[in-house]
Amino acid sequence: MIPCGRFAPSPSGRMHLGNVLCALLAWLSARAKGGRFLLRIEDLDPDRCPRELADLIEDDLRWLGLDWDAGGAASGDEYYQSARTPVYEKYYAILAGRAEIYPCFCSRAALHAASAPHLSDGRVLYAGTCYHLSPEAIAEKRRQRSPAARVHVPEETIHFTDGVQGAYAEHLPSECGDFILRRSDGVFAYQLAVTVDDGLMGVTEVVRGRDLLESTARQIWLHRLFGFQPPQYYHIPLLVDHDGRRLSKRDDDLDLGLLRERFTPEQVVGALAFAAGLAPSPAPVRAADLIARFDWDKVPKTDLHLPNVFHA
Ligand code: GLU
Repeated sequence: MIPCGRFAPSPSGRMHLGNVLCALLAWLSARAKGGRFLLRIEDLDPDRCPRELADLIEDDLRWLGLDWDAGGAASGDEYYQSARTPVYEKYYAILAGRAEIYPCFCSRAALHAASAPHLSDGRVLYAGTCYHLSPEAIAEKRRQRSPAARVHVPEETIHFTDGVQGAYAEHLPSECGDFILRRSDGVFAYQLAVTVDDGLMGVTEVVRGRDLLESTARQIWLHRLFGFQPPQYYHIPLLVDHDGRRLSKRDDDLDLGLLRERFTPEQVVGALAFAAGLAPSPAPVRAADLIARFDWDKVPKTDLHLPNVFHA
């Protein structure tokens, strides 16, 4: 199988440095293997993810010196999740034959009630309330509101070795719980869409932030149900500021719109490569010049401090 990586941004804002680090490492990892690289726009929620922001991401990636073999505007609609609903419908139907999917009427407030068991990453373990509804109760509730669709997870532990974080295991019922496949407004959930897309697009490696490590067991389980070969996962450290606080889209001063006014692409790439252990100094460097020295063993597991040059 040809190695194939991808960058899969949700264009709900301008790229910030954390996204840049992710795109850079995903690109380097694929290119260092002589592999293909895809750009998939994860705009499942089109209200939050306008096309202009997706176009800006493409522009920012080109500015950084990163390229891709398929995806984005040049490939038509195929790599925009907002245009792939019929594909997700098809795989949802396949899943319905292989797992137990059930309607869930629980409100957000009910799900996040203080009594609900919280998982280590802040998510709430679903108590299974709607799994036990009788057909009559379901019919009655359907008259009041449209349900989300949840899948029932089996008594199974998913083990995998992350390329950065090492061995990881998750017991589906107690550490994940039954999860949403489709929202009550009909929008397919990230977990379903990302698995279908990575599987169908021939993605062999997924590089993304450590904050998505806990999603991986669910995705591996779905990959197997669909008959796909799960990709190799690399969950990269997050960038944090001096106080150890994770950078986010709210840190407007660190979005590429402003960074492009202050720095050259080589300065941004050089500083991030240094922070990620891939360069001996933060000196400016072209992304392409890092391919030959790319090595996952150099990338640390733990959070990375924002390089000094970015402090205003
Ligand atoms: N679209 C997700 C994000 O921007 C990334 C999903 C993934 O890489 O699996 O956070």
